[in-house]
Amino acid sequence: MAQTKLPFTQSEMHAQRWGAPERATALPDAARGLVELAFGLDDRPAVQEPPLPAPGISETHVAALRDLIGAEHVVTDDETRRLRTRGKSTPDLLRARSGDLSDAPDVVVRPRTHEEVAAVLAFAVENHVALVPFGGGTSVTGGLAARREGYAGLVSLDLVRMKGLLDVDHVSMTATLEPGLRGPEAEALLAEEGLTLGHFPQSFEYATIGGFAATRSSGQSSAGYGRFDSLVVGLRVATPRGEMRLGSSPANAAGPDLRQLILGSEGAFGVITEVTVRVRALPALKVYEGWRWPSFSAGADAMRTLAQSGLLPTVIRLSDEAETAINLAKPDQIGGAESGGCLMITGHEGEPGAVDAKRTAVTAVLEGLGGVPLGEEPGRAWAHGRFDAPYLRDSMLDVGVLVETMETATFWSNRDALYTGVKDALTGALGEGAIVLCHISHVYETGCSLYFTIATQAGDEPLPRWLAAKAAASDAMMDAGATITHHHAVGTDHKPWLTREIGELGASVLRAVKADLDPTGVLNPGVLVP
Ligand SMILES: Cc1cc2nc3c(=O)[nH]c(=O)nc-3n(C[C@H](O)[C@H](O)[C@H](O)COP(=O)(O)OP(=O)(O)OC[C@H]3O[C@@H](n4cnc5c(N)ncnc54)[C@H](O)[C@@H]3O)c2cc1C
Repeated sequence: MAQTKLPFTQSEMHAQRWGAPERATALPDAARGLVELAFGLDDRPAVQEPPLPAPGISETHVAALRDLIGAEHVVTDDETRRLRTRGKSTPDLLRARSGDLSDAPDVVVRPRTHEEVAAVLAFAVENHVALVPFGGGTSVTGGLAARREGYAGLVSLDLVRMKGLLDVDHVSMTATLEPGLRGPEAEALLAEEGLTLGHFPQSFEYATIGGFAATRSSGQSSAGYGRFDSLVVGLRVATPRGEMRLGSSPANAAGPDLRQLILGSEGAFGVITEVTVRVRALPALKVYEGWRWPSFSAGADAMRTLAQSGLLPTVIRLSDEAETAINLAKPDQIGGAESGGCLMITGHEGEPGAVDAKRTAVTAVLEGLGGVPLGEEPGRAWAHGRFDAPYLRDSMLDVGVLVETMETATFWSNRDALYTGVKDALTGALGEGAIVLCHISHVYETGCSLYFTIATQAGDEPLPRWLAAKAAASDAMMDAGATITHHHAVGTDHKPWLTREIGELGASVLRAVKADLDPTGVLNPGVLVP
């Protein structure tokens, strides 16, 4: 049985890197050799903490905030402001490393209750101060880089004190959680009740319940537990116009489902203060295993067959030939790039009887389609390192290699065209020497997501180079009729493509909702709404 060791840290994230500061490491020697061969080494000097711009909010406003929620919960020191600046995309890291902290909030406020959030919102409206809801700070789409021009200040509304498990309904199998709980904190509280949420994005260690809802996140076990929006049955939201409580029944026909208006609203419509989610019994057994496929297409077709037969495991992911060769352990064992082998990981979680039955059925289908079982070792290796890649991204940046990811989704019939279009766009824009990898890790009866990783020499101007490549790849997604984002959300970075995806009328509907819920536009200005 493969056990997943969940990282659980209380520490703040490093201001210029992913994750816990104590886990910041230099690139291991073995990897240095490979990186030198592929890209050459360009060791970058240790990054200094750059100074912050002076706060652009008046002392009177800070004093008013202190009166509202208590002086100790209104923080203006440089270190805290630095830690609440932007998210953790590679462009965010590059800007922080280059000393650009122009998006730093003027002040960080930490309400404890829904009522305190509502009071801060009322203050923001009255004084025309911009508010940025802050969960775990793991946004990769500029969702925390709100516009400050035209506002009397920029306030980070840090939900870090809202960490309660408010209610558990063992009969209905639901739990109500506060938004500031990080993934491991929520799982630990639910585990005491014998329950799990089953939501494990790669950012699990730091991302929060409120952030999952606000971005419509999808985790590594989405095939079994569902993406986060499908887990949500109820929401409590503080808006500048008052409170919304949504979700009085598991399903209804009472007009359009307004929960869907708040899910994915990225702090632009309101602040999510409670989330009621469907929960499952803690699995007694977890088994992860590897499969070899002769090609990415053959593996993807097998995923489709499983999805359309109602036989999806809890975890299913498939690396393309390049990702298989580069990222995964023992590529020689599964063929590697030369023979075109691709690695699939399947994982089954649940009660032993149910796991056995599903595993047997899945094995029969995969073997019937030409998959070669590789046993549990590749599955164990994946489960062991599943949250480590973001740390490696920083170690690669340290030696002058730019690593970044982007994702999209489409219907099965369009998968191959999308894959080729985006890959060609990235390769064309980044030029020779760049490596483009892809995997599928979220599947549906009707289609799947494609997740691309690139690695290339950072050079002297890494930021404009990557932004140009990302724009080319985003255009390719639109040209292929796919989505600009399957689970990373829109933020500021994907906004230029949103209208092309949802149409002028769709954009106008979003603006109308924004105008109604946040008429003076104090919530996350510039984020999401075209
Ligand atoms: C290394 C890495 C790996 C990642 N892997 C995944 C993955 O596997 N799957 C995935 O889906 N995403 C992934 N992401 C993206 C990111 O983790 C998700 O978007 C996550 O849901 C954000 O949660 P957060 O708590 O960090 O939110 P934040 O980054 O703090 O905020 C994200 C947005 O939501 C708003 N917001 C936050 N909390 C609230 C609230 N309570 N009410 C209203 N608005 C709010 C913010 O204003 C912002 O616009 C990854 C990111 C990184 C850096």
